[in-house]
Amino acid sequence: MLAPAQDELNVYQSAEARFEIAAQKLGLEDGLYRYLKVPSKEVTLYIPIARDSGQLEIFIGYRVLHSSIRGPGKGGIRFAPEVSIDEVRALAAWMTWKCAVVNIPFGGAKGGVICDPSKLSRGELERITRRYTAELSEWFGPERDVPAPDIGTNDQTMAWVMDTYAMHVRQATTAVVTGKPLDLGGSQGRKEATGRGLMMCCNRALEKLQMKREGCRVIIQGFGNVGSQAALLMHAAGYKIIGLADINGGLFNENGFDLPKMNDWVYNQRKPLPEFPGGGTKMSARDVLFNKCDILVPAATENQITTKNAERVDCKILCEGANGPTTSHADEIIEKKGIFVVPDILGNAGGVTVSYFEWVQDRQGFFWRESEVNERLQDVMDHSFDQVLLYAETHKVNNRIAAYMVAIDRVARALKLRGIYA
Ligand code: NAD
Repeated sequence: MLAPAQDELNVYQSAEARFEIAAQKLGLEDGLYRYLKVPSKEVTLYIPIARDSGQLEIFIGYRVLHSSIRGPGKGGIRFAPEVSIDEVRALAAWMTWKCAVVNIPFGGAKGGVICDPSKLSRGELERITRRYTAELSEWFGPERDVPAPDIGTNDQTMAWVMDTYAMHVRQATTAVVTGKPLDLGGSQGRKEATGRGLMMCCNRALEKLQMKREGCRVIIQGFGNVGSQAALLMHAAGYKIIGLADINGGLFNENGFDLPKMNDWVYNQRKPLPEFPGGGTKMSARDVLFNKCDILVPAATENQITTKNAERVDCKILCEGANGPTTSHADEIIEKKGIFVVPDILGNAGGVTVSYFEWVQDRQGFFWRESEVNERLQDVMDHSFDQVLLYAETHKVNNRIAAYMVAIDRVARALKLRGIYA
């Protein structure tokens, strides 16, 4: 049953490798194993777009529904040059396991378009989004598959998805997509949710390891939605953010950064992160990961920690904000180093949890205060964290495999109850 990933940097193989270990530990029946290993359906779209110049171009897009066993598919839409069907497949499977880890009633899905948003105008991005959504107007739906933002997409993209879908079904349908602007059925606290969930996991991990939060040294790679919100919230909570990085490079400062100033520098003044006047040592975005710290938060992209560099990771807690930042081959090295891992499917699950809250609010047409959202998020994250640790202790496995086991167990139970429609 065990088939270790052949190509270390193939994220789909990385996702499969963890699934296989966890399925074996659980003693998952062969039939269920075969069912859960593969996606439910996938589609490739060739999206014709008129560029602003008038030239016609074809963009390639994908949507993968990995599972709708526990509820509608849920998963972001990524606009990036590196998007591939294997990446979208891996991300869709991770969504299934993530939603199950935090026990929200969704399956897993993901989508993407191969494009570089930094080289496209707003109008071109809008046309790609609308055509992609129109092609999937019968696939998407509040009870079928509910997209959200991911790398390269944002609340405006989600507003276009919602409008396009609404035009096709002839009625406003806010619950078809999450991560929307507040004025269009978005939820309070959604923007901060993934970063807040990460911080909640870090708080819990510190308690577990009997470490103090005040002055606890943190390095965060990625300063987008996830990384910047995690950094701002953790800074405000007393953590010391000593390393930051984005696509432009990394910056390390043992004395800690003033996060509101850094945020203003990057987002209001629109200046490159490594040029921040607060000082620090410049280095590559990858090298920032290998400075000594208490908590390391990779929150940018996949395959950052590999067999080539895992030995150099020098932290006590690795809390994953990105999906798949550590390859399955590197897991063993990290484990041998005794690093406490909060795996991606738990660490970054705050985002999909508040997306679930947004979907609930849209369907009720009744909106919650931010404090209610955050309180409910805290309940979900704390409970999920404890469940994963309990599985790790009971089954004597690492936290990552434990998280997969919690998830696979839940999805398999639901599948058995539903049975197979033949
Ligand atoms: P984003 O596009 O808002 O930000 C990405 C950040 O990473 C940017 O600061 C970018 O400059 C940086 N970056 C990109 N490539 C890099 C590289 N090679 N080295 C260093 N920095 C790099 O995206 P996001 O929404 O913050 O998502 C980040 C990660 O978190 C992704 O893996 C995504 O799948 C995952 N995630 C996002 C959410 C969410 O709610 N947005 C939820 C769960 C997981």
